[in-house]
Amino acid sequence: MARKIGSRYTAHQILGRGSAGTVWLGEGPEGPVAIKLLREDLASDQELVGRFVQERTALLSLSDPHVVGVRDLVVDGNDLALVMDLVRGTDLRTRLDRERRMAPEAAVAIAADVADALAAAHAAGIVHRDVKPENVLLDMEGPLGPGGAHPALLTDFGVAKLVDSPRRTRATKVIGTPDYLAPEIIEGLPPRAAVDIYALATVLYELLAGFTPFGGGHPGAVLRRHVTETVVPLPGIPEELWQLLVQCLAKAPASRLRASELGARLREQLPLLAGMGPLDVDEPDAEPQEEPAPYGENEPYDPEPGTPRRGAVPLVPGAATDSNRDTHTSMRVPGPDELAGGARGTARAPRASGAPRPGSARHRVETRRRRLVLGTVAVLLVAAVGVGGWLATGGDDADATPRDNKGASPTAPANP
Ligand code: ADP
Ligand code: MG
Repeated sequence: MARKIGSRYTAHQILGRGSAGTVWLGEGPEGPVAIKLLREDLASDQELVGRFVQERTALLSLSDPHVVGVRDLVVDGNDLALVMDLVRGTDLRTRLDRERRMAPEAAVAIAADVADALAAAHAAGIVHRDVKPENVLLDMEGPLGPGGAHPALLTDFGVAKLVDSPRRTRATKVIGTPDYLAPEIIEGLPPRAAVDIYALATVLYELLAGFTPFGGGHPGAVLRRHVTETVVPLPGIPEELWQLLVQCLAKAPASRLRASELGARLREQLPLLAGMGPLDVDEPDAEPQEEPAPYGENEPYDPEPGTPRRGAVPLVPGAATDSNRDTHTSMRVPGPDELAGGARGTARAPRASGAPRPGSARHRVETRRRRLVLGTVAVLLVAAVGVGGWLATGGDDADATPRDNKGASPTAPANP
């Protein structure tokens, strides 16, 4: 079923469907092309069409071997179409779904290609804003590179910006996955080039690990992790490669590498990674192999056994990194002097060495035992002093002391 797009192009068959529209295999004056026909509701939005036309020059001028080139923008009646270079191959998401984890050499080669594409875009003043495996196409007709990786090309430049205006996001809920969102976007800052670096580092981590560093669970939890948590190291990853990832996943945009430098540094790593197999990484939702050990000294509170532990980053600039979840989430057993009405503990004080894990059977037994001792002490005191009015206060205190720490209860929301 052929369909005319403008005066110069014909769409022949559907290659795939995406969130913004349908991609067709088409024909133009210079041969085969891919034509992304935007969804009708997008094409009929006058404001969006206006911005689409405004972006035309920047998008058309972007040319790089690792960018899926936009050849033309067609506004024709109800049709709004991007005419692109045709890439014969598959997208990186499909490959990742098949392989789950990639060997470091191939993963780094792909990431280096994408970094080069970003370097060209950033030099032209274009921020991609939607770097993710779905938007990386692998050219199966291109020459095989390091680790047997096909050349990678970044696509969908400028589309996120067009489609994702606040008004449209509200109206149609076109919100992508939060897994690749840089923390500064979550905090409401305008997206600059560094957001693409963060997203690319997230993609590289995912290629190596099989999961993204901050993904999983409720989208709100994912957003919070981007802002507050540090990335969990991958076992067996070469140190220099890990340092590159950490630097590009920095919370502060200015701390991340620029695209051109990232591309060069990744390529430097390639010879060191030759022949290395995929990393042996536990899936984040894997069941623990054995009974969890008793809650020992300095062991972080882990509400979901088997999930990788993440450290928190300091919420106050300059403060020491608090990598122990325990200080945010656990209650502390008060000392005897506090139970007797002395100084109150602070919510953030760490759990005493050897103290039972909050909520554990041992914790409950000890709490009950302390209350019993306290009750006995109170009764003896009352008997000795003989002040009737004191009874109520003393009784209340006995009960209130553990609850005084409720600011540190495991269910208290962390302040992002
Ligand atoms: P969206 O970004 O709107 O969700 P995509 O860009 O992912 O849509 O396109 C949908 C499908 O079309 C994908 O499966 C992709 O493989 C295919 N596709 C997109 N662009 C091209 C292209 N330039 N050449 C070949 N196939 C493409
Ligand atoms: Mg896309």
